[in-house]
Amino acid sequence: MSNIPGSQTSFTDHDTASSELLLRRASYGKIATGLGGSAWTPLNEDVHDLLECPVCINLMYPPIYQCPNGHTICSSCKTKLENLCPTCRHELGDIRCLVLEKVAESLELPCRFQLLGCRGIFPYYSKLKHEKNCKHRPYACPYAGADCSVTGDIPFLVMHLKDDHNVDMHDGCTFNHRYVKSNPREVENATWMLTIFNCFGRQFCLHFEAFQLEMAPVYMAFLRFMGNEDEAKQFSYSLEVGGNRRRLIWQGIPRSIRDSHRKVRDSLDGLIIPRTLAMSFSGGNGQELKLKVAGRIWKNGDIEAGYYS
Ligand SMILES: [Zn+2]
Ligand SMILES: [Zn+2]
Ligand SMILES: [Zn+2]
Ligand SMILES: [Zn+2]
Repeated sequence: MSNIPGSQTSFTDHDTASSELLLRRASYGKIATGLGGSAWTPLNEDVHDLLECPVCINLMYPPIYQCPNGHTICSSCKTKLENLCPTCRHELGDIRCLVLEKVAESLELPCRFQLLGCRGIFPYYSKLKHEKNCKHRPYACPYAGADCSVTGDIPFLVMHLKDDHNVDMHDGCTFNHRYVKSNPREVENATWMLTIFNCFGRQFCLHFEAFQLEMAPVYMAFLRFMGNEDEAKQFSYSLEVGGNRRRLIWQGIPRSIRDSHRKVRDSLDGLIIPRTLAMSFSGGNGQELKLKVAGRIWKNGDIEAGYYS
């Protein structure tokens, strides 16, 4: 008998809740009933209440903890509390709430990059797995000269490179770029300013650096594509450097910026110029590095554009 007024009370409580919370609950309830579900039922509401962490009000996922009196708490809040239950102040310990964990695992939830365009809905653990490789997940800033922790989608990163790193932007699929350095023999490791090329409506990053490759100083130039790997594979590029009637040509596939600049460099997937050769290309007496790198980007299947394909 006492159950009925109790449930009515809980409904009244929800009616007075903030609209933001109600919105969140409504969409959550819809997902929990499956894609075909058009309405959220009291059952979903109850499940939601059960899974709401009393401290941070986020949904709880395994591991979910409980105090000896059965009050539940999410794992991230648990680490922030000094081993005291926030509800009854009892010592918390390390008691898991396995039943609730099972409930949480059974729910289907949207990918966390939903707002970035992903439409995937997954059970909890598949969701975590998917999110690691979701093609809508934000990209890391491709700038290599300094540690930069900025992430975002491509249009955002292009703005960020322009505004915060003062990166040069060029339009066109062919380019001629000069790299100059006085007293190059004093430099063991160096990263030149990144250049961005706008081509086929997409952006490509041209990297140029100096490093030691098995004791020998080398220069390396390579291209990275601002987008996912499967898209990067639709393009090819060539780089050519020369002088003194000699020429070195590289043809490759731009790497996605999902691969870090360091990873691409370490895999030597680009034009490698031994320093002795670079100095010979530069002419003069070896006091100055003066390299002209000519490049071209084309779409695969566009046969005329490629040198060899
Ligand atoms: Zn919490
Ligand atoms: Zn408690
Ligand atoms: Zn996703
Ligand atoms: Zn940055």
